[in-house]
Amino acid sequence: MEATSSIDLAKFYPDDLVILAVEEKVDSVILYMQSKSTEFICPCCNSVSHVHHGTYHRRVQNLPLFQKTVWLYLNAYQHTCENPVCKVHSMVETFHNFLHFKKRMTERC
Ligand SMILES: [Zn+2]
Repeated sequence: MEATSSIDLAKFYPDDLVILAVEEKVDSVILYMQSKSTEFICPCCNSVSHVHHGTYHRRVQNLPLFQKTVWLYLNAYQHTCENPVCKVHSMVETFHNFLHFKKRMTERC
């Protein structure tokens, strides 16, 4: 087996999150990430939405890597449900429950 000197961090994260940059500090690693999703399924009525209502920035803590705290700085989308009878007006991405809206840490922590 051939050894490598780097890790492909992208394979540890959902496909619809792209790593734009990685910054390593003395006691932490920061991953700057951007959503590339183009559609969203409403958790209430299951309608597929393509309307981006806005973007939002989040900072979440991930599992540590080599004893350094890992922070994800995310730029993700807010969506509007396109179903006129749905009660949900604004939704934020959870990346298949990788991130839950009200939590500051990822589901795997
Ligand atoms: Zn809906």
